[in-house]
Amino acid sequence: MRHRIAVVGGGPAGLALARVLHRHGHAATVYERDPSPDARPPGGALDMHEGLGQRALEMAGLLAEFRTLARPEGQAMRILDTDGTVLRDWRPRPDDRANPEIDRGQLRDLLLGNPPPGPLDVRWGHAVTRVTPDGNGGAAVHLADGRTESYDLVVGADGAWSRTRPAVSAATPRYTGVTFVETSIEDVDTRHPDLARMIGDGSVAVYGANRGLVAQRNSGGHVKVYAQFRTPQDGRDGDPGAEPAQGAGGPDPGGSDPGDAEAVRAGLLRMFDGWAAPVLDLLRHGTAFARRPLHVLPAPHTWAHVPGVTLLGDAAHLMPPLGVGANLALLEGAELAEAIAGVATAAGELDAVVRAFEERTAERAGRWARFTLDGLDRLVGPDPAAALALFDEVQAT
Ligand SMILES: Cc1cc2nc3c(=O)[nH]c(=O)nc-3n(C[C@H](O)[C@H](O)[C@H](O)COP(=O)(O)OP(=O)(O)OC[C@H]3O[C@@H](n4cnc5c(N)ncnc54)[C@H](O)[C@@H]3O)c2cc1C
Repeated sequence: MRHRIAVVGGGPAGLALARVLHRHGHAATVYERDPSPDARPPGGALDMHEGLGQRALEMAGLLAEFRTLARPEGQAMRILDTDGTVLRDWRPRPDDRANPEIDRGQLRDLLLGNPPPGPLDVRWGHAVTRVTPDGNGGAAVHLADGRTESYDLVVGADGAWSRTRPAVSAATPRYTGVTFVETSIEDVDTRHPDLARMIGDGSVAVYGANRGLVAQRNSGGHVKVYAQFRTPQDGRDGDPGAEPAQGAGGPDPGGSDPGDAEAVRAGLLRMFDGWAAPVLDLLRHGTAFARRPLHVLPAPHTWAHVPGVTLLGDAAHLMPPLGVGANLALLEGAELAEAIAGVATAAGELDAVVRAFEERTAERAGRWARFTLDGLDRLVGPDPAAALALFDEVQAT
């Protein structure tokens, strides 16, 4: 008999785990609270690093398909001064495969199976309220509809505000002091050709004291814009049990109500007053606005091993969004799946591989968490030259 495995959350971590298990002939049940794959906008593009996200896709047997969808040209990066002067203009070589971009929706569909819904057992519209170890090496998943299901292993891949995490750790995310407000521009090439030229094939970033504006090209002429700034307010009204405010699962406090959008736009234009007009056009042409206060877990976040439950991705190590979180989430999902697939059916063996996996990944995740926390301080900090220096360092590696 195979191990009975539940995955809480169908984001990059959970789907990578289920997909690689499936490749090795093992089943897992994925509980995802979204009612369907397209229930909400998937969010901005992700760069997939060669030794991280791409490695995971290779383990899933999806690297070739990824390469047909990915945009190597999306690695282009331009840095402007607040007056619009170009400070840096990096363009990838045509054969550069280090960090190509892929839309989140495309990545999700790839993991789900082509065409979705594919071969995985994903229970859409199944929110998990909590997970409880059973004291015999397994754990129970408690669903919002009142049902409880028992498993040999429950893997919490349910993101920043994980409902699985309390089964192993008392840690909760803390606000970093930095908030992103996200907006989108559609059909940039036909409707705003000047902006399209400024953004180029990849991203453009502008940094001032304690604030920045970043625009990232996604596929199909869609652009994601992030206004980034320091503010003491985390916008969650002090309710840690509220809807997640970070990552793909966040609410939309900027509102889809155009009245709200205009108020947010006016506030942002005041905040970035004095910046070059073409840069401010990124805000003027944005449509709906979503507020994303950035929260993090302690770095490193470790916990005493609890038989029957473990964590992956943001649930385990929420860190600032500096191009690493989804990569680690995918790799951890793939690595845990391979470790599980490699063991026989004895419960003790399953527990041993999970424990070893936790020890291996905590060290790596802790290193990246510290790197991204330091990076956030430099990018959204008092000295814009520190942001530029960070990009120079990353480009030099
Ligand atoms: C603005 C921004 C830009 C980013 N850019 C990048 C980038 O370029 N590269 C990169 O590597 N990373 C990036 N990240 C980080 C990346 O988005 C996350 O690290 C990654 O999505 C984590 O994946 P995950 O599967 O662990 O969690 P999530 O993506 O958060 O997925 C969790 C899933 O669990 C589901 N869920 C939550 N609670 C429950 C529940 N109670 N019951 C059932 N299901 C539940 C959610 O609906 C969701 O589908 C960015 C993040 C942000 C905010």
